[in-house]
Amino acid sequence: MALGTASTRTDRARTVRDLLASGEQSYSFEFFAPKTAKGEHTLWNAIRRLEAVSPTFVSVTYGAGGSSREGTVRATERIATDTTLTPVAHLTAVNHSRAELRNIIGQYADAGIRNMLALRGDPPGDPMGEWVQHPEGLDYAVELVRLIKESGDFCVGVAAFPEMHPRSTDWDTDIRHFVDKCRAGADFAITQMFFFPEDYLRLRDRVAAAGCTTPIIPEIMPVTNVRQIERFAKLSNAAFPPELAERILAVKDDAAAVRSIGIDYATELCARLMAEEIPGLHFITLNHSTATLEIYENLGLHQRSS
Ligand code: FAD
Repeated sequence: MALGTASTRTDRARTVRDLLASGEQSYSFEFFAPKTAKGEHTLWNAIRRLEAVSPTFVSVTYGAGGSSREGTVRATERIATDTTLTPVAHLTAVNHSRAELRNIIGQYADAGIRNMLALRGDPPGDPMGEWVQHPEGLDYAVELVRLIKESGDFCVGVAAFPEMHPRSTDWDTDIRHFVDKCRAGADFAITQMFFFPEDYLRLRDRVAAAGCTTPIIPEIMPVTNVRQIERFAKLSNAAFPPELAERILAVKDDAAAVRSIGIDYATELCARLMAEEIPGLHFITLNHSTATLEIYENLGLHQRSS
């Protein structure tokens, strides 16, 4: 095996735990598995462009069922084998037996993937619908953390919620369940998207007050068109800043102006967070590279990769 190949393999098999322990802020990107050949082309275009700025890791979300799930496994395996990137595979407990979950974990291991994001997932079709556990499956993400950890030497991430998980009734219980995931072996966490830095900082303080030091990476979603305002609020329950909505709606017929306001807001949010000793930033890309690269450039991060 050529030396170059060997070192690339070692790099991408690194764990997020080790990368975060280096002390440098990490920069990572999230993709979703495409359903069509055109979507596949768009995804790989974005991956190749973002690979050029050497992100710390990239992640691929896990779909609600069927072909999109197979697509996640395929895309993550391809990132592991065909690129220099360190992949994190999302995995959810939705409609899976323990045996199926072990099988998927095994497929990831065979492809050299060492990092997974362990999620409970939501009922397909209605995120706030009644959760029905698979008869031979799991009820909460904490059980998936344990299952992955039992299955091999994996680095495991979990979800965190700056505005509290929408199913949680109070902050104390929400934090207790988050800390349980960390005590079960989670090495890092990534948050739900949010728009007010204070929400992230308060969550971090609450977790620290509970005696938990697991690094929590904030997730950033730049708004690039008007439709997203409503869509994001529905998907994530994240409070959308009224002042930002007002500024965007005032120029709603000018797509470039809308995009520019959204990117400026995300840049300011990142800059504010970076001043607070965060472990890193995780960008939702929606399988496009340009908005993320613009924010990257605005923050001066492109120099880091050169
Ligand atoms: P859990 O940690 O299990 O928590 C769910 C709820 O149950 C919380 O209210 C919690 O407080 C409560 N709870 C936990 N343990 C207990 C217990 N023992 N007893 C009683 N209550 C308990 N979804 C996807 O389908 N695919 C993805 O790829 C995906 N990626 C995501 C990435 C990130 C960064 C985030 C933040 C979310 C992602 N999601 C994804 C969405 C996620 O699956 C949902 O938000 C889901 O509702 C919560 O998952 P969880 O892992 O936090 O669940």
